[in-house]
Amino acid sequence: MNEKYDIIVAGAGMAGSLAAAGAAKRGLSVLLLDKNKEEEVGKKTNWGWVCGDAVAQTHLDFIKQHIGLGFSKPELDVKVDGVVAYSPDLQTKVNFDGEGYVLDRPEFEKKTRDYAIKNGAEYVSQFDVEGPIIENNYVVGVFGKDKSMQHKEIRAKAVIDALGVATTLRRRLPDGQFVDRVVDVDDLESTGRYIYDCEVTGEDLHY
Ligand SMILES: Cc1cc2nc3c(=O)[nH]c(=O)nc-3n(C[C@H](O)[C@H](O)[C@H](O)COP(=O)(O)OP(=O)(O)OC[C@H]3O[C@@H](n4cnc5c(N)ncnc54)[C@H](O)[C@@H]3O)c2cc1C
Repeated sequence: MNEKYDIIVAGAGMAGSLAAAGAAKRGLSVLLLDKNKEEEVGKKTNWGWVCGDAVAQTHLDFIKQHIGLGFSKPELDVKVDGVVAYSPDLQTKVNFDGEGYVLDRPEFEKKTRDYAIKNGAEYVSQFDVEGPIIENNYVVGVFGKDKSMQHKEIRAKAVIDALGVATTLRRRLPDGQFVDRVVDVDDLESTGRYIYDCEVTGEDLHY
């Protein structure tokens, strides 16, 4: 790890990996940090890569156009022609037409992270970001612990907070930053995601 980068990206989930890839592709020096192990890039919780696996073709086109990264098998797992959303009582349904894919999330994140590295980004796994370094009211880097639990301070011209719902960085910002320090509890919703393999028998196409 160097002492100073153009950009530090905190969090190598979907947002962080893409931000790092985009910045590196444009020739900036980038450090991508995540608390996950290298082989578990993008893993969201202890249970796994729980979500973000349904994307529209237009999203993939956008990534290709702006970052130059294209996807295929195995990260694009299943092609779909649309999505149907049902209400819990199954009485109401809403169709979302248009091509898309169910992603293999581990493979998708791995490919994006590797593309960032290929374009010159430095990636450090098992790094726990603990807070921003603040000087003269500006964020000038981050501090945290590396995998051997050593305290580290790293500086950059800009820091991208891609820690997901975690507010580790935001909550330590100085006053008057026009950024919410915590996610309002009213903006949080419990969700679940289940993948079923169904055997469709006879005429019952209910599911
Ligand atoms: C049940 C469910 C289903 C969903 N389904 C879809 C879907 O079908 N399609 C879709 O597009 N979106 C879906 N979403 C939304 C999608 O998952 C999120 O928008 C997306 O994952 C957010 O990406 P992110 O990179 O911002 O955050 P995250 O994916 O949460 O990534 C954050 C990263 O930061 C790291 N991190 C956190 N704290 C620290 C720390 N202190 N130090 C170092 N690293 C840290 C984590 O390890 C993680 O890698 C779904 C969400 C849920 C909950």
